[in-house]
Amino acid sequence: MFGECHGHIIMDGRNYKQAVAIHKDGVKEGDIRRKLALYQKAGVTFLRDGGDALGVSEYTKRIAPEYGIDYRTPIYAIHKNGHYGGIVGLGFDTMKEYRHLVETVRQKKGDFIKVMFSGIMDFASDGGVTGTPLDRAEIREMIHIAHEEGFAVMAHVNGARTVQDAIEAGVDSIEHGNFMDEECLQALAESTAVWVPTIVTVHNLYGCGRFDDGVIERLRNLQASKIREAFAENAIVALGSDAGAYLVPHGQGIWDEYHVFQRILQNTADLDSRLKRAEEEIQARFQRTSD
Ligand SMILES: [Zn+2]
Repeated sequence: MFGECHGHIIMDGRNYKQAVAIHKDGVKEGDIRRKLALYQKAGVTFLRDGGDALGVSEYTKRIAPEYGIDYRTPIYAIHKNGHYGGIVGLGFDTMKEYRHLVETVRQKKGDFIKVMFSGIMDFASDGGVTGTPLDRAEIREMIHIAHEEGFAVMAHVNGARTVQDAIEAGVDSIEHGNFMDEECLQALAESTAVWVPTIVTVHNLYGCGRFDDGVIERLRNLQASKIREAFAENAIVALGSDAGAYLVPHGQGIWDEYHVFQRILQNTADLDSRLKRAEEEIQARFQRTSD
């Protein structure tokens, strides 16, 4: 079985606000144990979380081994104030503040740094990315600082330009990575960055009634074609479902993601071994290397 390279233990796959509210006056262990049991039941033994601002992910790291799960956490995600990311983490205004957040992850024994470089796919506007992305210089500095501290960097990033900026700055994993263009895919293939497309987040929206199914259909086909190209170019691509996101259940999410990959990569004979290698790459890299 494959591991879950992108999940959010704090979320519940249905209602983000309600899921977070459970923990707002302190971490509720029962909620976490219930979700960890879902992973155990699904045969998932590796889980890389995206972090949260309420200490839920930090707490999960302590009890996950009881469920036979190798759990990695960035403690919280880091975003620049005024840009996307407030829902899962802490913000900064200056690089000095960013440094301090990175240092705090170290003190809290986080395994890696999670950063937000852009907004999300905009389902209402048929293919754009919400908000303003960070610029190239900021992206470079943020990755550099995290690497200096011995951390790998997991980056939430969409849009060809911003994804390419992150790759060229030496990012360790690209999360979502929607709307890559030819040049960007080439940069990905030539780099050691692992791409985690989380395609099931789009797939599972089809027919849910919240968005125009024509738009969903177009966006998932677009991402599917990029995944095929990435495989053809020998890029490193791993399975992560964004479990906990809307309509992506814990445990089941990564099976769903795998089944979508099987469908769109029917002609890739070594699919399983390549996915396994990509996951091992994440397991090896997303842990702190120095004290
Ligand atoms: Zn996520």
